[in-house]
Amino acid sequence: MENCIFCKIIKGELPSAKIYEDEETLAFLDIQPVQLGHALVIPKKHSDNFSQSLSEVINPLLHVCQKVGEAVKKGVAADGYNVSMNNGEAAGQIVHHLHFHVIPRYFNDGLKPWPHKKYKEGEIASVAAKITREL
Ligand code: AMP
Ligand code: ZN
Repeated sequence: MENCIFCKIIKGELPSAKIYEDEETLAFLDIQPVQLGHALVIPKKHSDNFSQSLSEVINPLLHVCQKVGEAVKKGVAADGYNVSMNNGEAAGQIVHHLHFHVIPRYFNDGLKPWPHKKYKEGEIASVAAKITREL
């Protein structure tokens, strides 16, 4: 992918603070971290997003997220970490090369989780049914 910044990082055409690499995967630090040590885990083979990625691509990435997550946690003395992924522009995806975020977290770090809604009476079952029909 010619204009993909993450493909350029993989090819060494753009710099990155690389923290892990194997045959299929690269992990490097996000340049605009939520917390210091915030890492991105990406496949070396370009894939636009999670929806379009094969399990052969996703599975090794998750394994590396765990490995990197544990190293990030120890490396920056965090209390935990989030593994997250924005799938599609509506979900906040800016870079269209599949990537997982590994974000170190601290007790009382002030990062508020998403606000929660409530289901109306009976609504949870109908929403579950709508989703189940698609599986
Ligand atoms: P997303 O919103 O899930 O697409 O996240 C893309 C992430 O890539 C953002 O958190 C950016 O800060 C990060 N990012 C963009 N360009 C670079 C770069 N050249 N090196 C490291 N991280 C980058
Ligand atoms: Zn790419």
